[in-house]
Amino acid sequence: MITPLRKLNAAQVADWERNLSQIDSRIARILEKPFQDQEISTAEGEQLFYTEGADLQAVLQAADLIRASRVGDEVSFVITRNINFTNICYMGCRFCNFRKRFEDAEAESLSLDEIVRRAREAWDRGATEVCIQGGLHPKIPADHYRNILMAIKAEVPDIHIHAFSPFEIWFGAKKARCTPAEFIRDLKVHGLNSMPGTAAEILDVEVRKQLTQDKLSADDWVAIIRAAHDEGVPTTSTIMYGHVDEPRHWANHIALLRSIQQDTGGFTEFVPLGFIHYESPLYLDGGARPGPTYHENIHMHAVARLMLAGWIDNIQVSWVKMGPDLAREMLGYGVNDLGGTLMNESISRAAGASHGQEITPREMVDIIRAAGRVPVRRNTLYEVVERYEDHDPADIPPLVPRKAETTVSGSESFDTLEPSTQCK
Ligand code: SF4
Repeated sequence: MITPLRKLNAAQVADWERNLSQIDSRIARILEKPFQDQEISTAEGEQLFYTEGADLQAVLQAADLIRASRVGDEVSFVITRNINFTNICYMGCRFCNFRKRFEDAEAESLSLDEIVRRAREAWDRGATEVCIQGGLHPKIPADHYRNILMAIKAEVPDIHIHAFSPFEIWFGAKKARCTPAEFIRDLKVHGLNSMPGTAAEILDVEVRKQLTQDKLSADDWVAIIRAAHDEGVPTTSTIMYGHVDEPRHWANHIALLRSIQQDTGGFTEFVPLGFIHYESPLYLDGGARPGPTYHENIHMHAVARLMLAGWIDNIQVSWVKMGPDLAREMLGYGVNDLGGTLMNESISRAAGASHGQEITPREMVDIIRAAGRVPVRRNTLYEVVERYEDHDPADIPPLVPRKAETTVSGSESFDTLEPSTQCK
């Protein structure tokens, strides 16, 4: 007998208990746990990733019921703009095709004026957030990160700046010769509001050696995320799956995120990011699977919902990675957030994804309603900005992509900047 949870009606509970009685008893015992506020262990989570048939259907139903119980029927999205300020990067992660060398024709770095122009344009189109990430440009001064924040806040003081992956923090702190905590503290003073928990990939030494030569180790990633949370800077949490990884890595990864959250409470959400293989060197060299299968996708979102229940209760699906149709389907498997409208997204498209430039607020609302759920617009910290129960969002046409006049190519843009004084 499960404990009836908040917001579940008697019919839902009865249907669930009937289905539970018809599946493998070991899986049933695991699935009862989140309904009783008990944690699913790493080994149990791994078992759930291998479920098939009726057992898998029960996993999906459990994820949907726990979602309904924890966060209700609202599905949120945020109006945001991605600004990838440089694609020049010396790192060479094997899964990445976003990165360019100085001499590549597509190499570009945005001037501060262009970054600010894009932030202002985003604000004027209703964005509450800009998400700023870039490659590890070898000539970038450490105080460039701070300067981006200051320039945006001077022009658009109320926009939320969600910026700089743990890899960029690791890189900037080394350039500034300070600790990541000192670097983050300085960035916060100058306008950093939250950080993307990207660059997590899979938090496993052996997997990371194949993906990034372990340049940013799993321990480094965890330490930087903990430092951000300690400094009062919330972050997202992510996983990139579907390459050289296996279910045991996924279960370990999710359990590690859960343990961080139990200590810090600093994660706002969990975002599964399927590996986009098309143009990635890792795949082209024959070293990886061609991204996650359909079943891996549904397992990932559902099992994450169950393992993270009560700790990270916002589970986001990436429409950029999956496309709108599959993203809508994931709303039935534990997901309660559709992420951002983006306006520009370069990273997944560089790796060959066919989605990823922009979804308008109206399109977000249509996807959510088609799934029978209630659309809401949120801010970065999951506070509701607007509910669309009885009206539609303003009809904002997609931003037409254009080549910015102030975009400069190659390394010249950083050659004239003063050396870093940050943290020194
Ligand atoms: S993933 Fe980031 S750090 Fe790695 S090569 Fe690509 S841009 Fe550089």
